[in-house]
Amino acid sequence: MKERIHLFRESLKLVWRSAPGWATVNVILSVFRSFFPLVLVWLLKILIDNITTAASSGTGFPVYNIVWIIVAVAAAYFMDDASADFSSYVRKKQSMNLEAYMYNILHTKAISLDLLNFERPEYFDRLARASREAPWRPNNILNNLVSMLKGALSLILMAGLLAFLHWAIVLLLLAINIPGIWLRLYYAGLIYNFQRKQTPEARKAAYFNWLLTGDRPSREMRLFGLGKYFISLFRKSFLKTKEEELNIVRKRALIELITDFLKASAVFLILLFIANRTINGKLTIGEMAMYLVAFRQGMVYIKELFISLASLYEDSLFIGDVFEFLSLKERVVPMPPVTVPSVMENGITVENLAFTYPGNTFRAIDNVSFEIHKGEIIALVGPNGAGKSTLAKLLCRLYDPDSGSVRYDGVDIRNMDPENYRKFISVVFQDFMLYNLGAGENIRLGSIDEEKPGEKIVEAAKITGVHDLIKDLPEGYSTMIGNLFDNSRELSWGEWQKIALSRALFRNAPILILDEPSSALDAETEFEIFSRFREIVKGRTSIFISHRFTNVNLADRIIVLEKGTIAEAGTHKELMGRKGKYFSMYTKQSGRFEK
Ligand code: ADP
Repeated sequence: MKERIHLFRESLKLVWRSAPGWATVNVILSVFRSFFPLVLVWLLKILIDNITTAASSGTGFPVYNIVWIIVAVAAAYFMDDASADFSSYVRKKQSMNLEAYMYNILHTKAISLDLLNFERPEYFDRLARASREAPWRPNNILNNLVSMLKGALSLILMAGLLAFLHWAIVLLLLAINIPGIWLRLYYAGLIYNFQRKQTPEARKAAYFNWLLTGDRPSREMRLFGLGKYFISLFRKSFLKTKEEELNIVRKRALIELITDFLKASAVFLILLFIANRTINGKLTIGEMAMYLVAFRQGMVYIKELFISLASLYEDSLFIGDVFEFLSLKERVVPMPPVTVPSVMENGITVENLAFTYPGNTFRAIDNVSFEIHKGEIIALVGPNGAGKSTLAKLLCRLYDPDSGSVRYDGVDIRNMDPENYRKFISVVFQDFMLYNLGAGENIRLGSIDEEKPGEKIVEAAKITGVHDLIKDLPEGYSTMIGNLFDNSRELSWGEWQKIALSRALFRNAPILILDEPSSALDAETEFEIFSRFREIVKGRTSIFISHRFTNVNLADRIIVLEKGTIAEAGTHKELMGRKGKYFSMYTKQSGRFEK
């Protein structure tokens, strides 16, 4: 309970911060609106009594005091409806502000989280739950609290009125609603647990849906004729989530029937009572109508009140997911003593580095030590799964090692703010990004704060040889590339790779890491780029990963990784002379090409 109240408080703080003015208007309006129903039933009573008197005395129409009462009733109806319309606008406005605010918080959290989170399914489940709930749940809490306040006020007023008739009616009103509230609370818990359990299955269904409708899978889907197969997988996942939910809802509907029967019996009793009193002349027709409406309204308010209460309970369960996500801790943070890095003077030292992916039983990097001097070009080679990409990510401090260290000019990079440190690094990852934006902008993203990017973008494009292509596009560097938006031009994978390379070069960082930078380039372009490699990297300290040994021999030093450890290191000549792992890989590959 304490935890729930804490969650409510936190949620209300979010609502307040996102739109304090609108939140206040929302609450005031709701309180104001809770008085209308009482005014209406009271006016109704006066109206009916006046009409019955007029009808029995035969004064004829119009009777002015009756007309005035009718005007008052109409005005009250209008005010009630108008304030409801205005209130719904206020709620919309407020929830819009909150939505934008919550997305901002979610996105800020998502970009600051450790990369490792993105490689675990639990993270995506958490993110899916949080982004499903965050934009609207806090507002729901506020609205439910306000509805509760409004419902409670209206109910007290109506109950006060009914108490004039008989206190037992108030008691009956409350008693017949108790099973309903219990039911709602019980099922709110059930549905929450069910949905939590279902997140992985729902993600699976969403994934199959993407396979069937997405752009990337569309080619294989057709070629391998996989459509029907994935349609059946989607159906299975989808129905599995829905059928269980339906089961819960079905059971709830059955029990609700019983409570509805209870309520109908209560209405029966009250009607008998009121009819009896009216016939016996203890109530006027107007009073009869007033009490009937008041009882009906009382039932509605009590139901609304309990629904709000049950929704609040449900909110407290779901909002927990949002705060659970927001409270995920980043571990890749600057550790004291914090040092602000400056441009590299000496180089990078890797010392006894070890790293294990969570959930794995083996080390992806195991006791690796080497040095990279300023301005050196290092090639990382080794079979698939040797740990090359992992090592590159450790050098960027996308992960922190289990033990050992990466030192930048002698300082452990864990003592630096990762954002500051990464300013000195530029990377082309193996799975580099394709941005569905302008061609020039795709390059500019490498250094978004660059003040006068124009010429430098062209320069970076010229170095990788993609300038001619961009220049000939319909709108040159402003042409949208990709296939997501209208008027955009799709590029070949190799052309995208050149753009990614240009983006990395546009970032004027002293360290350049290239993970298979030429995997999609044609032989000619690849040769072109690697034969000018030194000119391209312009003295940057460079580490590149490559499968092709013809490119590797241009490096100052080659590090051969195998199963996470360094098998050999040295210049091409040294390694060939050693006739070890490198020699055998090199001769196998060059032999294959010579055949
Ligand atoms: P390489 O780049 O040399 O092909 P990687 O660095 O990608 O190798 O992978 C090294 C080892 O770590 C492999 O055994 C791979 O299966 C494992 N690995 C890579 N990424 C992950 C991950 N996100 N989670 C768990 N294991 C991983």
